[in-house]
Amino acid sequence: MDIMDKFLREGSSLWLRVRDQLLPSSVSCTSNGIVLLTTEYGEVFSFELAELSGEVVIPMHQTSVDGVDDMSSLTDLHEAAILYNLFLRYNQDKIYTNIGSILTAVNPYKCIEGLYSANTVELYSKHQLGELPPHIFAIANECYHCLWKRQDSQCILISGESGAGKTESTKLLLQFLSVTSQRSLGGSSQERSTHVEQAILGSSPVMEAFGNARTVYNNNSSRFGKFIQLHFSQNGNIQGGAIVDLVRQNPAERNYHIFYALLAGTHSQQKEALYLSDMESYHYLRKSGCVNNKNLDDKLMFEKVMAAFSVMEFDSEEIHDIFKLLSGVLQLGNIEFITAGGAQITTKEVLSNVSDLLGLDSFQLAELLTQRSIILRGEEISTPLTIEQAADSRDSMAMALYSQCFSWIIRKINTKIKGKESFKSIAILDIFGFENFEINRFEQFNINYANEKLQEYFNKHIFSLEQLEYNREGMSWEAIDWMDNAECLDLIEKKLGVLALINEESRFPKGTDCTLLEKLHTQHQCNSFYVKPRVTDDQFGIRHYAGEVMYDVHGFLEKNRDTFRDDILNLLKDSRLDFIYDLFERVYSRNNGDDTMKMGTQRRKPTVSSQFRDSLHSLMATLSSSNPFFIRCIKPNNQKRPELFDEGFVRNQLRYSGMLEMVKIRRAGFPVRRPFQEFYLRYKMLLKNHKIPEDGKERCTMLLKLYDGTNSHWRMGKSKKHRRGQLARRVFLQLKA
Ligand code: ATP
Ligand code: MG
Repeated sequence: MDIMDKFLREGSSLWLRVRDQLLPSSVSCTSNGIVLLTTEYGEVFSFELAELSGEVVIPMHQTSVDGVDDMSSLTDLHEAAILYNLFLRYNQDKIYTNIGSILTAVNPYKCIEGLYSANTVELYSKHQLGELPPHIFAIANECYHCLWKRQDSQCILISGESGAGKTESTKLLLQFLSVTSQRSLGGSSQERSTHVEQAILGSSPVMEAFGNARTVYNNNSSRFGKFIQLHFSQNGNIQGGAIVDLVRQNPAERNYHIFYALLAGTHSQQKEALYLSDMESYHYLRKSGCVNNKNLDDKLMFEKVMAAFSVMEFDSEEIHDIFKLLSGVLQLGNIEFITAGGAQITTKEVLSNVSDLLGLDSFQLAELLTQRSIILRGEEISTPLTIEQAADSRDSMAMALYSQCFSWIIRKINTKIKGKESFKSIAILDIFGFENFEINRFEQFNINYANEKLQEYFNKHIFSLEQLEYNREGMSWEAIDWMDNAECLDLIEKKLGVLALINEESRFPKGTDCTLLEKLHTQHQCNSFYVKPRVTDDQFGIRHYAGEVMYDVHGFLEKNRDTFRDDILNLLKDSRLDFIYDLFERVYSRNNGDDTMKMGTQRRKPTVSSQFRDSLHSLMATLSSSNPFFIRCIKPNNQKRPELFDEGFVRNQLRYSGMLEMVKIRRAGFPVRRPFQEFYLRYKMLLKNHKIPEDGKERCTMLLKLYDGTNSHWRMGKSKKHRRGQLARRVFLQLKA
């Protein structure tokens, strides 16, 4: 009865506990001792009044009913409240929400009018963080200003699963920063800088066409990670940039966009010269079964790529070279074999087209595809290949061509955007998101490892460093349990860890995927982050921060060993075409340079996963010396649809990303920190009628006491950190919601 009186009135909002979850609900009807509760997610529950206790229904605080900009100001502090806040805002097209300084972005899968307009850019560039509703531009603006406020370089890390909106966010950041940096020139036109900015923005369509592909998770899924650095000059404009591409992953279903774009966009004369025909005729494009999926978009993409090529001053010869290579790759895929004392090529015409497009001798090419030759003690020994092996060598040649072409394009973009001086930089990291397909292979292992690493950095920064900072400032700290993924990373990275075993087995001549699996099981089956399945015998699993993933061990060793097959490399390096020759001469010199160790007669090349680990580690080192901003992208549903918020699906993302712990930490703490002097100057008018103390710290205390005499919403920090020889003093305060 007591509860009834308090808040079980029709229309009132409350939390309903069912199935171990709290659901935001409202009372739709109370009569005859029956209460009908409707959850905001659309379910209806009926209860007898007598059944309801304070355990089952909990009043909802007004902050949850109304929704808040910053989650740390929610009074109901639990997972359900965070989820509901996102839901409320999502329904009002407010896709951005703060958690202290971290921004969450829910992918709207639609254009929201005015959200990214020139006016919005203008507005956000004129306000400090926190003065306007949360927005990605607010983060970009704060980051830009931190370039001058702080000593270090800045970085923005964007995370989220595949399709959550990382790449779109990256483009928005680039858009904002380039407009703002141009404004810093005060209208005077500095040609060079505008060129650089145009080229940086223009590089996106090219990189997406060559680096992205359609997957079940995302129609425009990045198959490579990128780290974009923007170099700023002293007067605040973008001087230059650099794009680092972090290891590519092969597309699983539909191939890279550029192939479809090329076929949709070239006119018949070009097609003839490039031996191009219909999409359906290509093996590499057919396997996905969604060839004609977006014909119109493909054509549009072609136009965008061509426009971007021209902004970046690719000349017509270079473009033609790229197209020839692409067509060569497509044709290669159509080479077929039969068995006749080893694999033989049946498609002679295709073979001759490929040879022509790639500038190779068709006889040598045929030999290479059907035989394997190695040099043993100075003598060349050839063995015939089976059909499967021949198909493998054909595919690995196609892959080698494509990946070298991609690297060439990135190098070309980089020369175009390279700046003279770099005073400070802002870096943006956009990598492939966490993936868990029905069958997960070596590629998914690498992708998820990278995400695990990024999560570690995030944890370190948000949790550990925050704690340290409080200790340094002599402020009390409430211990908070947070998800630590160090053990999972140890399982992958440490001595005798998964990576080490994969590498060891790859170097072992008799190693196979099965022996690898055995070793993994033996070594790790007792590790709580490792999963040894009971039934299927060719899988192992890892409990990642984002969920458990089972990996199919087939192909692990082959893919890990694969750098380049020497004979393929040698043939390509002898191409008559300068373009192909240059691409592979480069690889050849690298492979034969000082960094390769000789082991007997076999050269010891770095494996794919060790290269991947090294590039991740060097990335992490760069990040560690920068001041980070975090953007957490969230996917509202798994159907790529607008206006659909699947709360179970979102809840899972909130859980594994440590969002709840983050809110707790932010709330327990004092997220807004201002140096004494800055704070005083900003609010000194409030002290008009007071006698103002000399000391900076005392002045601030006086100001703060006017606002909250009990000192429950603010704290004074100890003075700390040396800056330019002075003690920079800080005041810690938390403003009331
Ligand atoms: P992956 O890890 O697979 O590369 P991602 O996180 O980079 O995924 P995006 O490619 O950025 O995902 O986003 C997927 C799609 O979602 C976009 O193609 C776009 O249609 C839509 N989208 C993402 N962010 C926004 C946004 N802010 N506004 C409108 N649509 C968006
Ligand atoms: Mg992406």
